[in-house]
Amino acid sequence: MKSSRKVYGSIMLALMLALSTVVPYSVSIDAATTETTETTKAAQTEDLPNVAILATGGTIAGKGNSGTDTTSYKAGELSVESLIEAVPEMAEIADISGEQIANVGSPQITNDILLQLGKRINELLATDDVDGVVVTHGTDTLEETAYFLNLVVKSDKPVVVVGSMRPATAVSADGPLNLYNAVLLASSEESKGKGVLVSLNDRIGAARYITKTNTTVVDTFKATEEGYLGRIVGGVPYYYTESTRKHTDETAFDISEIDELPQVDIVYSYQNNQRYMIDAAVENGAEGLIIAGSGNGSLSSAYVEGAKDAVESGTEIVVSSRVGSGTVSPRDSFMTSDSLNPQKARILLMLALTVTEDDDQIQSFYDQY
Ligand code: ASP
Repeated sequence: MKSSRKVYGSIMLALMLALSTVVPYSVSIDAATTETTETTKAAQTEDLPNVAILATGGTIAGKGNSGTDTTSYKAGELSVESLIEAVPEMAEIADISGEQIANVGSPQITNDILLQLGKRINELLATDDVDGVVVTHGTDTLEETAYFLNLVVKSDKPVVVVGSMRPATAVSADGPLNLYNAVLLASSEESKGKGVLVSLNDRIGAARYITKTNTTVVDTFKATEEGYLGRIVGGVPYYYTESTRKHTDETAFDISEIDELPQVDIVYSYQNNQRYMIDAAVENGAEGLIIAGSGNGSLSSAYVEGAKDAVESGTEIVVSSRVGSGTVSPRDSFMTSDSLNPQKARILLMLALTVTEDDDQIQSFYDQY
């Protein structure tokens, strides 16, 4: 079975190379579409998997002023239709449909967009018409959306979150092949049941582990301790490892009836810090607060005092670490985020607070998810 897929992959690669000599890659620079729209499906081919691309913006849909403009371009400019048109090779491996969920740089992704995206993916995957979903996204907060989906998607069908580091107008833009690879993964039987995947730069990462590690380079997504699940070689996905943490169907979270997520903020630890950052979050309505502690979650006395008072007033505190990798050991009085970085710890606390305020139960989510 596997070897016939590899033969198929090689044939596909040969076909793509042949096509690329006569059909050069080009991006059609359309006006941005900011509303939710649905493209009509091209005539469906019976035996190809159906993959829905849900676009949210980011650099993968970005436009610069020149081919060498890789920093001052505008993210979230191209429509989902343009992204699909730019990679006609995808039609050889899947029947593609596209929807515009948003068209923004990923710092503008809100809880409302997360909920809209999660609900739409669950709707699509519940039907027999969709075999997998690809989400295009800015890379800056991509790991937050990917981990959110990892916790709320209720299906074992593949969901792949993809972005790019160079805008679509750049020389050697990485978006088109990243998008092709994401569709390849979303179409693959082997991708089922692995939790939400993140794919850039020919790598396959787990949403639970992967994080952005570099501000500008193309191989920015890494999991320094856990590594990648696999890679894509010559149009064939190769999986080698799995995430051991619970995800998708195995979590306690159901967003179908949720219209708003609780406010959870993050404060950072540093030398000479004072408790007013914590107090400000509480005063501004934080139901939960992640503290990016130093080292193994260590906190200044001022932060410990502030955090204890915050707990007294009903704000849930979870200690994570600013280090970038490693597990935060259990601490006497505060919950800890296991190995989740602060931004992913925030996603989990928001969802946890939709089902419980019990510290032991919340901690058990961190221990399992
Ligand atoms: N600022 C962009 C964003 O996150 C960066 C990117 O997509 O790579 O939307």
